[in-house]
Amino acid sequence: MKVAVVGTGYVGLVVGAGLAETGNAVVCADVDAGKIAGLQANRIPIYEPGLEPLVLRNQKEGRLTFTTDVADAVRRSEVIFIAVGTPPDEDGSADLQHVLDVARVIGQNMTATKTVITKSTVPVGTAQRVRAEIAKHTRTAFHVVSNPEFLKEGAAVDDFMKPDRVVVGVESAEAMQILNELYAPFVRTGNPIIFMDIASAEMTKYAANAMLATRISFMNQIALLCEATGADAQLVRKGIGSDARIGAAFLFPGPGYGGSCFPKDVKALIRTGEDRGVSLGILQAVEAANERQKRVVFDKLSRHFDGRLAGRTIAVWGLAFKAQTDDVRESPALVVIEALLEAGARVSAHDPAAIETTRYVFGDRISYGAHPYDVLAGADALAILTEWLEYRNPDFERIRTTLKRPLIVDGRNLYDPERLAKLGFTYDGIGRGRP
Ligand code: NAD
Repeated sequence: MKVAVVGTGYVGLVVGAGLAETGNAVVCADVDAGKIAGLQANRIPIYEPGLEPLVLRNQKEGRLTFTTDVADAVRRSEVIFIAVGTPPDEDGSADLQHVLDVARVIGQNMTATKTVITKSTVPVGTAQRVRAEIAKHTRTAFHVVSNPEFLKEGAAVDDFMKPDRVVVGVESAEAMQILNELYAPFVRTGNPIIFMDIASAEMTKYAANAMLATRISFMNQIALLCEATGADAQLVRKGIGSDARIGAAFLFPGPGYGGSCFPKDVKALIRTGEDRGVSLGILQAVEAANERQKRVVFDKLSRHFDGRLAGRTIAVWGLAFKAQTDDVRESPALVVIEALLEAGARVSAHDPAAIETTRYVFGDRISYGAHPYDVLAGADALAILTEWLEYRNPDFERIRTTLKRPLIVDGRNLYDPERLAKLGFTYDGIGRGRP
């Protein structure tokens, strides 16, 4: 099939490369000329495991091309995915400006019947707005489909190639057939393509992210209570996670959720509720709990220094909002670092993938190390904010002798408190009792 993917970010690039891998002729279009020039020169703009070989292979085979000419990409394709960003507007609602811009260009270039698929996360009713925008500019018939994306950054390629399920909102048998053909290669092991009406598909994406964010905030609050009562949140997590009705995923206490999806999608769903007169008190609490949680690591550090952080140096391991990505959008690490700087502390930070994206935020207000141990020299404590694998079994002796004071505040519960105590550390995790 001839496919255009408009918007070549984390989602669009993975979707485009994945669909090329199964033999489709895919053109990825983006208004960011620098990004497209880089891709044309075989430079991958983001860190995502497995993405580079997938893109390069399909580019070489001529199945995957890149352009800034969105109109031309539309004219050449039978199927068009809209995968542009939908950032939060000032009132928390999803900003649909980019989606509707693309819809206009599609309408203006509708040379024959095409299938237009919203891949971006968009509130209920958006597909109808896309339809109306396209229809303003053409009399040619077309199909509108909602096909929200569930990939996770850090495992995006795997998630797209082997999805748990594919959700598709359709209104016509022809569109259903086209989506079936496109996705059949990805669900050969029997995972379902779930067809539904468009409004339900749009809502499914928000409900999924809101549920996951709720689990995180729930577990973070239980962890705070564990600290106050002497229970160990790691054991409680195992205890409840082995109940089949609850399940083990997404129950890790930590420094709060971040990234480009959960914060904005929870906000947008609350806003949709307000617009429709349905109060989503649960999600308001989830959001408030997360805002507080993002400061927990800072509060712990502050407590260890009796509120006197001015002049201290804090080493930070982990800047990305989660492991295996360079994405620092809404990362808890940014909140902790900003609070440390406000308190007069210095920060020296390491991350295996996210130093450049963080430099964009802090510039030289903090210092960076190419190696985890580089940032420890002269530091008064180590704070861990991302669960990168390479932090899991470090040389503790080297950490202890390099830090000025053997204090680790572990926002990801990577280590065993008893072992760390034996090794001479003051170790403070999340929900694991007060050291
Ligand atoms: P992103 O910011 O990485 O990429 C968006 C791209 O769209 C950018 O390259 C931008 O230049 C381009 N763009 C903006 N306006 C355009 C236009 N008019 N024409 C062509 N290109 C345009 O965003 P992302 O993380 O890929 O997210 C895209 C959508 O997918 C969002 O709605 C997001 O909520 C959703 N989503 C994201 C993830 C994720 O993990 N990042 C997962 C599932 C769904």
